[in-house]
Amino acid sequence: MGLSVAPSLRDDGGKRMSIFLHDKKTGGAGLAVSAEPILPRLLERAAQILDCRSDCTSGCPECTLRRDMQFELPKFDRIGALDLLTKDILPHLALPENLQIFGPKTRAITEDLSTYLARQINAGKLRRIDVILPDDPATWDLQDWSGLTCFTRAAGLGCQTRILIPEGSVAKLDISQRLDLLRVSARAEATIVEYRDMRHPAGAQVLAQIETVEGLSDLATTNSDAACLDRHWGEVAASPILFGQGKSIKEGPAVDPAALALVRGGNAVKFGIGKELDGPAARFGQKFWKLLDEQCPSAFRQDRSMIHITYHDRYLVTPLSVRLLSEVWQQMPGRQVNTQFSLVIGRTEGDPRDCTSFTHNWPDDEDRCGVIEALMPGIDIDLRNRRDCPHQRFFRLEYSNGKATEITLDQGFGPWVLALRSLRFDGQALPNRQAAMLKSAQLNITMQHGARYDSPVIIEL
Ligand SMILES: [Zn+2]
Repeated sequence: MGLSVAPSLRDDGGKRMSIFLHDKKTGGAGLAVSAEPILPRLLERAAQILDCRSDCTSGCPECTLRRDMQFELPKFDRIGALDLLTKDILPHLALPENLQIFGPKTRAITEDLSTYLARQINAGKLRRIDVILPDDPATWDLQDWSGLTCFTRAAGLGCQTRILIPEGSVAKLDISQRLDLLRVSARAEATIVEYRDMRHPAGAQVLAQIETVEGLSDLATTNSDAACLDRHWGEVAASPILFGQGKSIKEGPAVDPAALALVRGGNAVKFGIGKELDGPAARFGQKFWKLLDEQCPSAFRQDRSMIHITYHDRYLVTPLSVRLLSEVWQQMPGRQVNTQFSLVIGRTEGDPRDCTSFTHNWPDDEDRCGVIEALMPGIDIDLRNRRDCPHQRFFRLEYSNGKATEITLDQGFGPWVLALRSLRFDGQALPNRQAAMLKSAQLNITMQHGARYDSPVIIEL
């Protein structure tokens, strides 16, 4: 094996020295990779070797010296190395007792769970991977789940993938959560299975279970934020992922995808949008209502006045999605000059990037609301914490005769992406200027993933 040392930067910009262990054989012999899980033991062994019986200064045949290293001897600092290991490194490798949730053999993983899993998947080490959804469906934000990419990759490489949900939870889910679950399971080619009686280690939540040639392993966290099925899933910034021997889970029946897609209620119409709305954004609203009218003619052809529109969307964070909403609002059949428009949206969650593209998130809610108000004059915006917004994204259209129509867009305006990705947007400009730019931009849009998956719409009268 080979060794090199080089300065590098930490994530926070601080300086550090990195030690690289690598295989010398071209293409690798697998030694460096297999050292990773036993690194703590290797470092303990290194400390034993450095603790020289002859008490030398820079290495001797009793401790570190080997024939091929004799010319580098002056560079060695045996005492310094031993000091660093015993005082700075080894004490931090021992897990504190409250984190030894799987007993003394608990291992800590210090990279985000999805990164860790992706590496195991690419190395072909996993036979099966299960994601375990927590008891409370309110913490499932599958739309934003950071683990989906690695599950999709796993399925593509022939690893079995499953989504485990608590027994009886399907009945508690609203239609948009059920459609989320359905969509995620389709992309990850995962079967959905109910589990009974999952025993989590004290104070921790098992996020995933993997099966390798060595058997079952559980991956858990003690951090409740990292336990939510959203973009923070399995993050290690606050607490490491804990790895230990897996316990077999008592499984219930597999969930039938058809049962998830079922719309309850007699007069609801459900259909999927594929490529129908692809093309210029300026025609999006017109095509949107034409499509809905074809699917459900009785809903929009009545002679009655619309008094109130509400649109709920806990995202709506990009200029593109706001432009599409404004197109739909403008072309809405039955809307009058004095029809009120209320918008219920979730706060942005501190995106550190500047908004330089139509598909970037606005980092700042004040700018975002300013642009929305300039684009759709008279709109009333109710900004809430994302978790206080309904999961479902929908329009509610209320009429003067007391009737109402609800239109659920499974993923809001998120499924439409730019046909040309490189278009620049100036999210630093004043809101009025941004709104003018957004309104006049000649954007061509297309359904994401080449319309491989339809985006469901439900109309309820
Ligand atoms: Zn020595």
